[in-house]
Amino acid sequence: MYTSQETPEHEQVHFFHDRKSGLRAIIALHDTALGDAMGGCRMWPYTSFDDALKDALRLSKGMSYKCALAGLDIGGGKSVIIGDPMKDKTPELLKAMAESINQLGGRYVAAEDSGTSVADMKAMQEYSDHIVGTTVQENRLWEQNDGDPSPATAYGVLMGIQASVMHKFGKESLEGLNVNIQGLGHVGFRVAKHLAEAGANIYVYDPVPERQARAVKELGAVAVSASDVVTKPADIFCPCAMGAAVNSTTCEQLDVAIVAGAANNQLATSEEGRRLFERGILYAPDFVINAGGIIEVGMGRKGESSDAVNSRVVGISSTLLEIFARSDADAIPTFEVAELMAQEVIERARNKSIEPRAVAARVTNPQDKTALAL
Ligand code: NAD
Repeated sequence: MYTSQETPEHEQVHFFHDRKSGLRAIIALHDTALGDAMGGCRMWPYTSFDDALKDALRLSKGMSYKCALAGLDIGGGKSVIIGDPMKDKTPELLKAMAESINQLGGRYVAAEDSGTSVADMKAMQEYSDHIVGTTVQENRLWEQNDGDPSPATAYGVLMGIQASVMHKFGKESLEGLNVNIQGLGHVGFRVAKHLAEAGANIYVYDPVPERQARAVKELGAVAVSASDVVTKPADIFCPCAMGAAVNSTTCEQLDVAIVAGAANNQLATSEEGRRLFERGILYAPDFVINAGGIIEVGMGRKGESSDAVNSRVVGISSTLLEIFARSDADAIPTFEVAELMAQEVIERARNKSIEPRAVAARVTNPQDKTALAL
């Protein structure tokens, strides 16, 4: 059945085909030891079924790790719809996707992702109770945008950049730092805004000219080319576009002290994570720094207070500081430390040695060193 080279360690992978609507989709549940799985519903014109499968497998695993280190009692899942969101998205297709999600009986809960929108999630909610990211929340530290998780993600990325700067340069302020931002979409533009407001000098690239022009006009950004956003010397490289921003080529071209951004799957392979470490470039693991959105929708769905949600997103900073400290102490790359910590949380929940929620909540508490034992 599988054609992907990746060996699935996943609990379940479901394939859906609906002749009437043309839906072709995959829902991957990586691990539900911490709770029912949650993750974005991506629509993308994958060139092959294998590419779609690989994406679903990799992204759902990232969701498991993300939830584990964000202290959430939520498992990791992801769905992908194979198709061009500009041409193939129809009300019938979204209905068929919602009905496919229903077949899992709540074990997978979907939110918007690349190629889908809050409006699409609202349309799917007509047919399914297992959809989130459509509710505006009160008293958050970030602006609300129709239930879109991007503002929370961007705020968490700001927290993560601050933690990275504190660890690398020993300073709290971002004033005067040079940051290369790749991608100015829902998250990237908001990260750029936060950084500009914090006094950083921002250099931006997005293939959509209007997005780049808007950042120049509204944020005082400097527009750069696709290659310069990677190669230009700076303090921070902030990837906020699609995956594999740090690949075998760009990894050697980067002339920065820190890589910290919103994109999922920033490292093309583990090798790039090791190379960044060898080169002395501090990498903020993607599934830790970009957890703001899942914290927002996951805790929001359970009706947790704004104070609790706000402090969990702010807590991304202390989780990262702990990862950086362990990376220094044990001389292993930050992404490996983060993966080991996440696996530990999931394993403990699976073994039910202590309540999943208690394990997860302790990991974000920097005072509690025992919870971080690998
Ligand atoms: P988006 O689609 O709104 O924005 C992506 C932007 O990247 C677009 O403006 C696009 O034009 C640009 N882009 C595409 N190719 C590029 C390239 N080669 N160089 C520079 N820019 C390029 O997506 P988003 O919601 O802002 O998410 C951005 C990243 O963050 C994705 O990797 C996503 O998986 C990840 N992420 C998003 C959230 C969230 O809450 N939206 C949460 C966690 C992780």
